[in-house]
Amino acid sequence: MPHQHPCKTIIPIDEQTSYEAAFDENPDNRQTVHSGGRNKRGVATHSKFWASHRTLKVAFIDPPSQAHREAAINAIKLWQPSINLKLAFVSGTAGDIRITMVAPLNYSAVGTDATLRAPHENTMNIGTDLKHPGFESAVLHEFGHALGLEHEHQHPKADIPWDKPFVYHYYLTRFNWSKEEVDHNLFNTLETLNTRTTPYDKTSIMHYPIANELTIGDWSVEKNHSISQNDRRLMRKIYPKSLPSA
Ligand SMILES: [Zn+2]
Repeated sequence: MPHQHPCKTIIPIDEQTSYEAAFDENPDNRQTVHSGGRNKRGVATHSKFWASHRTLKVAFIDPPSQAHREAAINAIKLWQPSINLKLAFVSGTAGDIRITMVAPLNYSAVGTDATLRAPHENTMNIGTDLKHPGFESAVLHEFGHALGLEHEHQHPKADIPWDKPFVYHYYLTRFNWSKEEVDHNLFNTLETLNTRTTPYDKTSIMHYPIANELTIGDWSVEKNHSISQNDRRLMRKIYPKSLPSA
């Protein structure tokens, strides 16, 4: 089985524009200033969640086949029970989320960062082949980003004992990732609304699989194939089905 490419999130060109887009969409994305240096490696970032109860249009740009498109939709729909957004799968290419499925890379914009992409650009690519056993989990993971989730292994409480020099070497030789790309997708911990209010979860669909050789000592994470209970809990918190009673 060929190596699946690890997912990269699309880095917004400008943090300030990203923040303004997130705030315009949903004022709850307001950046919280945190005081003190409790987590020195932490990157304070705003959250990028969509406005509750809105319709999120999902479009496909040149899908390889109808079967390919249907399989992606079926996987995306597994998120629906845990969110209050209405997912609308549209037939044209004009969507809030615009998905291409070109091998081999997997990447996505995080939440409202999708609004910063030009209308003709995709906001997500699913590069894992339809026949690959990891297809469904790749779609679940990328769509988790589209809903605003960040990488779980970058949770401030993850505290992964990375063998950093080896990790840089590994990602460079296998996937041609720069040091900056490794930092952005693996090492930087993220201080966001969701990571500050939910515990670290090794079983999250948003966690990379981590081979033991990438860490110091005996530490690894298996590849996760489904949405975890904690993922669902987090989504229900971000996109609650009903308003809390006063
Ligand atoms: Zn990812």
